[in-house]
Amino acid sequence: MKKISRRAFNTTMSLGMGMMVNSTKSCSSQSKLGEKVGNENKLGIALVGLGRYSEFQLAPSLLETEHCYLAGIVTGTPEKEKLWAEKYGLKQESIYNYENFDSIKDNDEIDVVYVVLPNSMHADFCIRAAQAGKHVICEKPMAVSVEECDAIIEACKQANVKLSVGYRLHSEPYTQEVMRIVKEKTFGEVRFVSADAAYNSRGNPGQWRLDKALSGGGALMNMGVYSIQSAIYGSGQNPVSVSAQEFSTRPDYFKDTDETISAQFEFPNGAVGNIFTSHNVGINRLFSSFDKGWVELNPANNYGPLKGRLSNGEVLEFPHKRQQALQMDDFSKHILQGTTNLVPGEMGKRDMIIVEAIYQSIKEGGKKIELDLGMMGIV
Ligand code: NAD
Repeated sequence: MKKISRRAFNTTMSLGMGMMVNSTKSCSSQSKLGEKVGNENKLGIALVGLGRYSEFQLAPSLLETEHCYLAGIVTGTPEKEKLWAEKYGLKQESIYNYENFDSIKDNDEIDVVYVVLPNSMHADFCIRAAQAGKHVICEKPMAVSVEECDAIIEACKQANVKLSVGYRLHSEPYTQEVMRIVKEKTFGEVRFVSADAAYNSRGNPGQWRLDKALSGGGALMNMGVYSIQSAIYGSGQNPVSVSAQEFSTRPDYFKDTDETISAQFEFPNGAVGNIFTSHNVGINRLFSSFDKGWVELNPANNYGPLKGRLSNGEVLEFPHKRQQALQMDDFSKHILQGTTNLVPGEMGKRDMIIVEAIYQSIKEGGKKIELDLGMMGIV
């Protein structure tokens, strides 16, 4: 964020959220790509790793955000530097590679570093971003072990910077409506939740997602964290136990990582849940059943618009906006205005505890693994 005077900053802060939105809106008029003007009150975000998610989701979303903008990039591919600089009007001094990344600490225009690299690289870059004094968004899954999640959380705490995980659905209106129904017990007590997140992978067998050293695991680390997330916000509780099974039908393709996993959760109120994830079949659904009704999202976790219906015949309908824009604006508001961090680091760590318990259960032939998560990560 460009430096603004303390007086102007205080005035802006005292305007409150509604006024703030209006004031940033009015000064963020945009003539065309790369000529964005009026970023004075916005946080500058640097994307680390310019793969598909950055190129097709995060960067375009940053043209729609009201409280943050694309201020820098970190890439290992020199050809992307010029392309991105031209497309997004980036300054040369805000373009980094993986070697000189740490000098980002001297760049006042970058407030937030968003790590969008293969999973096993998240911890290193998130920790270095925190040490550079930048707020951090870490893509999902947060890391490849609970130990690494702890290290990221500690680094952010030591540096006194904010931390979030790229779980975009917490800012998404259909998902938020499910959370509201669960919380307000619109249909009574939850009794069962089913959460499926899976896609059919037929692409390059050399891709990093199928290489455990880079991905940390297969379907469970990729889509499985969405099932875990859905089961938790679809029930409003953390599981107290998990039992899991793994299935393999294409071992020649999935040589190094899990193909299909199913797991059963028990929740503190006695509800049960089933999650399913796979790299061999397409499913994208959340179903929560309560004493007096049910809610279903299908699709439940793609980029939207999602679709939802209730047992009383109601069909959910919300206006569509890029989920990633909503997500990055929510985190920016947390930093700028002190609103709730919808996806704190503890939530990413909690999910990794569950991932590790699922792998342990599979290793032990489906044994029930007890969990002691309390309210960890529930916002
Ligand atoms: P991708 O393969 O398209 O891009 C990966 C990027 O990392 C590329 O720019 C690549 O050059 C770079 N990279 C650096 N070192 C690498 C190495 N050793 N091997 C491979 N690539 C290397 O992947 P993606 O789909 O952009 O995913 C990146 C991260 O974003 C992952 O953690 C993924 O889980 C996450 N993601 C999240 C969502 C979401 O909806 N929240 C969606 C897609 C991806």
